[in-house]
Amino acid sequence: MAEKRIAESPLQFLKGIGPKRSAALEAHGIATVEDLLFYFPRGYLDRSTIVPIVDLKKLAQTPEITSPVTVIGEVFRQEARRARRTNRMIFILTLKDESGYLSCVWFEGFHWFKDAFENGELLAASAVPTLDKLGRPQFVHPQFDRLKGVEEDEPDWGKMFNTGAIIPKYRSNAELTKVGLDSRGFRRVIRNALTSRSREIHETLSSEILQSSNLEPLASSLSSIHFPRDFSNLASASRRLKFDELFFLQLMMALRRRKLKEVEAGISFKTESSLARRLLDSLPFSLTNAQKRTLREIANDMQEAKPMNRLLQGDVGSGKTIVALLSALIAIDSGYQVALMAPTEVLAEQHFSTISILLKPLGINIQLLVGGQKRRLREDILEDIRRGSAQLVVGTHAIIESKVEFEAIGFVIIDEQHRFGVLQRGELKQKGSNPDVLVMSATPIPRTLAMTIYGDLDVSVIDELPANRKPIRTAVRTKSQVSKVHEFLKEELARGRQAYIVFPLVEESEKIDLKAAVNEFESLQKEFSDYALGLLHGRMRSEEKDETMQRFKSGALKILVATTVIEVGIDIPNATVMVIENAERFGLSQLHQLRGRVGRGADQSYCILISDTQYFGRSLKKLDAEAAAEEQIRASTRLQTMVETSDGFKIAEVDLQLRGAGELFGTRQSGMPELRIANLVDDFELVQLARREAFELIERDPQLQLPSSKPIRDRFEKKYRAILRLGDVS
Ligand code: ADP
Ligand code: MG
Repeated sequence: MAEKRIAESPLQFLKGIGPKRSAALEAHGIATVEDLLFYFPRGYLDRSTIVPIVDLKKLAQTPEITSPVTVIGEVFRQEARRARRTNRMIFILTLKDESGYLSCVWFEGFHWFKDAFENGELLAASAVPTLDKLGRPQFVHPQFDRLKGVEEDEPDWGKMFNTGAIIPKYRSNAELTKVGLDSRGFRRVIRNALTSRSREIHETLSSEILQSSNLEPLASSLSSIHFPRDFSNLASASRRLKFDELFFLQLMMALRRRKLKEVEAGISFKTESSLARRLLDSLPFSLTNAQKRTLREIANDMQEAKPMNRLLQGDVGSGKTIVALLSALIAIDSGYQVALMAPTEVLAEQHFSTISILLKPLGINIQLLVGGQKRRLREDILEDIRRGSAQLVVGTHAIIESKVEFEAIGFVIIDEQHRFGVLQRGELKQKGSNPDVLVMSATPIPRTLAMTIYGDLDVSVIDELPANRKPIRTAVRTKSQVSKVHEFLKEELARGRQAYIVFPLVEESEKIDLKAAVNEFESLQKEFSDYALGLLHGRMRSEEKDETMQRFKSGALKILVATTVIEVGIDIPNATVMVIENAERFGLSQLHQLRGRVGRGADQSYCILISDTQYFGRSLKKLDAEAAAEEQIRASTRLQTMVETSDGFKIAEVDLQLRGAGELFGTRQSGMPELRIANLVDDFELVQLARREAFELIERDPQLQLPSSKPIRDRFEKKYRAILRLGDVS
């Protein structure tokens, strides 16, 4: 019997979806019925939290009320006002229900909100109620949902106050809305799909796992996640679907780990390294306890015959490089070659120059290998590597090109792993006979979380900064305050310090961004005419970049104007000011990385985030109302977090929450599948459960060949076909 599978069913023939809608959906990444059913609501409107406006005052005075409540009312009045303190426009919308009036206030996004609503329109607004100065209840930055026309097709809505409905809300955008697929439109087509196609939903887990982890079947979970009967029903559906995502993720980890374990003997390095000892003695500082501990962990691994796969994690400035270098010397002392791979040329060049200074007295042959080197030079370097005279090769991913052959590579260091793909790591390993691999990451995620994301690696954490560091002072300033910021910059420059000014550059608008940065550079040159400024961006040739970096490092340049190429790793202790323009366009960990470029010496350092949060990387016009509002709130949360903390772990957690793990680790680059519903921070217990089940399964059935593993195997192959083939790991 030829089973019809939702996975392969195109959307076109679904009730309520014609060619126009299916084209719009496809552009949105929803191509099949399965995609549609896995398009989970981004939230729910919950009748049980709908309250009449008259009750809000009491709720606002009840400290226990910390989660949002919902009000349903008509838009009664809209006004814009200029805030006295910030001189920014604020937007105030008054909602009216049968019991009273409520002000909803937005401090961000006035430009968008001013044309967003019509008087008389029916809205659901959700927020934690607060009181204004006069003691009246208000909603600040509420979430909202348009209810226009909802009554017509959802009869329950008319009786909103006396039904138990939990209504799903879906993400949409302008293109989808144009073909009627706003939140309400999604509600309808998904309901149709569930009604007519639910028999085609195939279970993806084995009944053993469903039972042992107490999980709902897939089909009923999919139905309940969209149209839950009640909250416990929603909770068990969401638990099941989260488990699903996490389980297949952990399965991948389990298979990878198994593969790593299967590898025959690696290299056993000798215990004592006089090179490492000599470097240690030559340093102007002593290692922190955390550095000593992690170095010991690495050295222990290196002595064992089994190949090391270890993640060295530490916040920016925690001193990972020196730990990696000391380990590299152990390998070199044993007669092996070492490769150090950095994510950008600038960083590779910087590593090369600092490492050269540190290691030259030890007589070590270090080579730099990056793209764009002259042919002749490159040939010579490759020859050196092949003959084995190059003991340490520093470079970008150019090192993993197939043309590069090592005589005896024993140790591989990958800096800032989150920028590399897992697959690249694999490729590099194939260059030698099971070299030890050390991955360094400055994304300070909790250790337990690291075990999920780098689930196939052992983890060492440098959880301590060198003692001489002063906390960096961070502030947000509006564009209108830029001239004051520049005055401050001049004061710092007059004291002999150096500064960075960073402009955003994103792929989608690369050309425009680059032009803007270059223009700004020119006007900055005029403004700071007493000082030498340098410009650094990714489109420059590597020699140019190198030269600019060297001149900044030597102090010849006082201000370095740059796009995000300086984000990672750059180490210039005399630079004390980091100015970030359009800071709202940067991700949180990016901002943290950028800030980490200052505060590296003994002087007080500053980070100034310039932002009028109306400007965004993505055009707000392309987003639907609520998504736009969310984007605004996310942006201000990012900036606020930067001001409030410099703890990389906290920052990473907020970042995870705001963006989701997939995006944070660059799904496509890192080989991490996207997580749509599970959250690695909040769902940590489920992560552990899924991990246990996945590892146990691979223990029992390494090739997933038992009949009971068939649905799992099918799902896994389909899900991760692009990322890794089962054949590769089994
Ligand atoms: P990251 O972990 O961000 O890669 P780096 O390895 O670039 O940090 O180190 C940052 C700076 O701190 C470098 O200038 C390095 O020489 C210095 N450093 C490293 N370890 C120590 C230490 N134990 N005490 C003082 N300074 C240190
Ligand atoms: Mg570094």
